Amino acid sequence: MLRVMARKRAVVTGGAGFLGSHLCERLLDEGLEVVCLDNFVTGGAANVEHLRERGPFRLIRADVTDYVHVAGPVDYVCHFASPASPIDYLQLPIETLKVGSIGTLHTLGLAREKGARYFLASTSETYGDPQIHPQPESYWGHVNPVGPRGVYDEAKRFAEAMTMAYRRTHDVDTTIIRIFNTFGPTMRPNDGRAIPTFIRQALHGEPVTVAGDGSQTRSVCYVDDLIEGVVRLLFSDLAGPVNVGNPYELTMKALAERIIALAGSGSEIVYIPRPQDDPTVRQPDITLARTALGWEPKVPLDDGLTRTIDWFRAHLAAIDAAVG
Ligand code: NAD
Repeated sequence: MLRVMARKRAVVTGGAGFLGSHLCERLLDEGLEVVCLDNFVTGGAANVEHLRERGPFRLIRADVTDYVHVAGPVDYVCHFASPASPIDYLQLPIETLKVGSIGTLHTLGLAREKGARYFLASTSETYGDPQIHPQPESYWGHVNPVGPRGVYDEAKRFAEAMTMAYRRTHDVDTTIIRIFNTFGPTMRPNDGRAIPTFIRQALHGEPVTVAGDGSQTRSVCYVDDLIEGVVRLLFSDLAGPVNVGNPYELTMKALAERIIALAGSGSEIVYIPRPQDDPTVRQPDITLARTALGWEPKVPLDDGLTRTIDWFRAHLAAIDAAVG
């Protein structure tokens, strides 16, 4: 007898944001039905408009700190909702703490009610300004809880603890990813993160503003690689936390120089003050992702930057109008 397999159903919070929208698209491509919950505080419906033609996709405007209700069966709950760039979470400090705490509680409740696998989008910022380099998952971090960035870092650390409590106490099938800096098309040009800022400045031939002396390092991952890591972890039975990011590390000055060169720009670099508690180094140890998920980044830095610059160039008029 033929057994009809029901289509799996995923709820993605923050699905109208940068990473969330790329994830929704990928899950639709994997044959899942996707329900996206977003309050559009830092994302927008435009990021997911094209998805309705891609598969069974529903966008619901909802603040997950109020309550979370989704009718019908749910197989996966992916909690991506949170302001994520320093400019955003410094402007929205209480909202950021709420979505990492109450939002995590509510979405864990949904996963428990539905018997779904729960996926927490955590961050390398849980490592703070690290004293161990590169950072393995076993490192507990070096975070200033009362500094301005504490609202984001501690919200995510709380979210991780709550996720583990639901796993241990309520037997919910949970996993935690620690995402390192990711970039790609559809990033907001004015979200204050280095790559979109540098690209926009370079495309306009304006000075490229590097914080401090530019010797602080970052390891940046192209969005397609990151989403591949997300789905591998989602469809695994690992509990995590698992680092996903590109271990290729470079200084901010070198990153600015690459962007200027790839954009074919004549911009010069100027130096601006460095934000408080800005991490000095950042590099993921991805041994666990490599061995347990068979994952590693494939897109070389220059390719990822070129694809992102091309997208920004193609959308520059709209981007400038949005930035004002
Ligand atoms: P983003 O700002 O583009 O997306 C976040 C989305 O969450 C937005 O659409 C926003 O409107 C929504 N949101 C925020 N608060 C909400 C609430 N209370 N209810 C419903 N929706 C809400 O940011 P992003 O870069 O796509 O980041 C997505 C997730 O990945 C975040 O949890 C972030 O902490 C994590 N992360 C991202 C990076 C990165 O490099 N992009 C690195 C580490 C971790």
